[in-house]
Amino acid sequence: MISVEEATEIILNNCLELKTEDVKLENSEGRILAEDIFADRDFPPFNRVGMDGVAISSSDFNPDHLFPIEGIQAAGAKPLVLENKNNAIEIMTGAVLPKNTDAVVRYEDFDKINNKIKINLHQINKWQNVHLKGNDRKQGEIILQRGMKISAAEIGIAATEGKLVLKVLALPKLAIFSTGDELVNVEETPLPYQIRKSNVHVLSAALKKEKINSTLIHINDEKEVIKSELKKALEENDFLILSGGVSKGKFDYIPEILNELGVEKLFHKVRQRPGKPFWFGKNKNGKIVFALPGNPVSTFMCLHRYVLPWLRKTLTLPALDFPYAVLKEDFIFNNDLQYFLQVKIEYSEDGKILARPVIGKGSGDLANLINADGFMELPKGKNEFKAGEAYPFIAYR
Ligand code: AMP
Ligand code: MG
Repeated sequence: MISVEEATEIILNNCLELKTEDVKLENSEGRILAEDIFADRDFPPFNRVGMDGVAISSSDFNPDHLFPIEGIQAAGAKPLVLENKNNAIEIMTGAVLPKNTDAVVRYEDFDKINNKIKINLHQINKWQNVHLKGNDRKQGEIILQRGMKISAAEIGIAATEGKLVLKVLALPKLAIFSTGDELVNVEETPLPYQIRKSNVHVLSAALKKEKINSTLIHINDEKEVIKSELKKALEENDFLILSGGVSKGKFDYIPEILNELGVEKLFHKVRQRPGKPFWFGKNKNGKIVFALPGNPVSTFMCLHRYVLPWLRKTLTLPALDFPYAVLKEDFIFNNDLQYFLQVKIEYSEDGKILARPVIGKGSGDLANLINADGFMELPKGKNEFKAGEAYPFIAYR
């Protein structure tokens, strides 16, 4: 049996290599940019007026001078030229600064007397209220880098660059399997000895948040059916997430079938609770299989501790370190396993994240997940965990 650290390393060393595809700008939110985008012009592309007011020449400014208005310059209009430096041009935000002017005075800072401008400032600074050409970015500079996750801000920049279509990483295809004769669909009324399946919905919701759509497949504990369905899914998808059927039970056929289908076992069983029977493997075509234990809390923990970090790496996003939180109460765990303790988070007045244990009734206690905010990862080789000690915290909300 391997450790959590070893399992993590194996998983992160077996990420998918994604192809790229083109998407329309309007559909690019949440996708990973697969090209560098260069500024096609300076940012801003001209000396841009930053305030509504008047443009003047700042040299030899005299506060007593009355400036006649020589013209009006709107945003989007060709730049005017100030013919007489004793005059002013009325100017709007977003307009090009008129030639022979070098400062903008806001409406708030002058009075208009008989169509002349009386400025109520002692001093004018050159380029005041002017957003100078190329001040933010220069033409040809990388403005969006490959590997960035596209959010509203990136979309704004790409739009400015005239990018109607963006090259992004293609999303991996995923099938999520539930296994077990006891499971029925959400819309069904279970018999007294059946339950509705929940894991597949948990998994698909978490993956959908990362833009990954999944095909949901259910199979009963029948070897031949499991085998043919898995074979087909391996051909049609890039990775599979299974839940159930990997423990020691008589009908836990998954590891044996995956082996028969040529999926190489990279590990089976991790020194952890919950989720000890976790199985992970890869076939010769690079298809990845996460076979998670079926207990809902085990599936949930493995999803957040292993699957989502693997997906981040597959998407070339930087790893998110789990922050440390401070245990708020003593906790004892008498087993030589890494323990993922469910905790509720509070914040102390001195800026610490405090984790209060929210003990459930084991890995089948799905309802307890609602009371907690995440898992605190308590190292194996230790049984007594004292209030005040800090350990990594894996948030799921
Ligand atoms: P298994 O790993 O197949 O032995 O399943 C362990 C426990 O998890 C059993 O109580 C199953 O009924 C339960 N279980 C397995 N798959 C699911 C699922 N998709 N949704 C909810 N519970 C499940
Ligand atoms: Mg089962």
